[in-house]
Amino acid sequence: MLANKKSAFFTDYREKGVPPTQVPDEVVEPLVKMVMAAPEEKMMTISEVFDYKLEPKKDSFDSFVCEECGEMTVMEYGRIKGDKKVCIDCAAS
Ligand SMILES: [Zn+2]
Repeated sequence: MLANKKSAFFTDYREKGVPPTQVPDEVVEPLVKMVMAAPEEKMMTISEVFDYKLEPKKDSFDSFVCEECGEMTVMEYGRIKGDKKVCIDCAAS
């Protein structure tokens, strides 16, 4: 996974706020092929069934004002762009 984070897909596009659908096919295709060809043991861990207590995630209504467009933005949808906290749309532009 760390290798994926260092790929052009992340460093040249996603980290700069480019939506995944706008990343050129020639950048995406090698990653898709790598995942499709990866051995099962690299893709997931399979174990015996065990008890797991799933805590419901608390909804967050924390928000901030986008420092570029001034829109109220829910925290989870905020992005860091340079030294600013921005909304997803401003992060992508
Ligand atoms: Zn914005």
